[in-house]
Amino acid sequence: MKFEIVTIFPDFFSGPLDYGIVRRAREAAFIEIKIHDLRAFTSDRHKTVDDRPFGGGEGMVLKPEPLFECVESLKLAPREQRLAGEAKETVVLLSPQGRMFTQAVAEEMAALERIVLICGRYEGVDERVAESLADQEISIGDYVLSGGELGAAVMIDTITRLVPGTLGNAASARQESFSGASFSNPQKPGVDGPDSTCGSGGLLDYPHYTRPAEFRGMAVPEVLIGGNHEQIRKWRRGKALEKTLRNRPDLLDRQPLSEEDKKLLAGIGKKKIGLE
Ligand code: SAM
Repeated sequence: MKFEIVTIFPDFFSGPLDYGIVRRAREAAFIEIKIHDLRAFTSDRHKTVDDRPFGGGEGMVLKPEPLFECVESLKLAPREQRLAGEAKETVVLLSPQGRMFTQAVAEEMAALERIVLICGRYEGVDERVAESLADQEISIGDYVLSGGELGAAVMIDTITRLVPGTLGNAASARQESFSGASFSNPQKPGVDGPDSTCGSGGLLDYPHYTRPAEFRGMAVPEVLIGGNHEQIRKWRRGKALEKTLRNRPDLLDRQPLSEEDKKLLAGIGKKKIGLE
């Protein structure tokens, strides 16, 4: 997987992409990250990347010429082929007006070979970039950042975790919060396949504990110490359902629930999770 970042702040990325799983994935060549300084694609003495908006209004807008020059220099497959899914490449414009970046979108993108991430700044980017250069606009959340760089780093981190080989234990990604129902056992929706302890099946993750077993009067739940794997699986599933119901009830509507899930949910009770 190759990520190509287009930015006016190339130094922004020394740090966020140099640690942990992303660093190891880069070192092991599971992923490659190239950073393109937008100013290198300007043709004037001042390396101008922005200008005032037509029609008046606040702030500055990123100009189209350097962005087109930069992305075209990457020699991607033609845009029509990319949009038709005939090329494993995409050009993303980071924008609060884009479709939401979710785990499902990350899973979709992890199957690609090359992702170009255009980072906007100021009041935004000349609309012709969204219309004719980028294949899609992506937002990382319903809030406004100062620039697309943090969004690009969030996307790279999330997608990298899904590239085969990057996580030591592939089951880690399968059982995390939001992981698609497609990862669940198709025979029993909501119940995970054999090599994962629980599997989020699109829910929030279950709670995790480590040593010490007792800390400041707070004990680790008995069931986790008992060693009964079936009881542990059931407890974790119940806790994942409970947390999802409390913090993200919208996720429950989107997932197929097994008979076991429905029973567990009925047993959780709204009072216990503070909804009543
Ligand atoms: N005027 C724009 C608006 O109200 O929609 C906001 C522009 S913002 C200050 C500058 C740049 O930050 C955007 O062009 C985009 O690249 C990036 N950005 C801001 N919020 C973002 C978000 N939620 N997701 C992705 N990128 C974002």
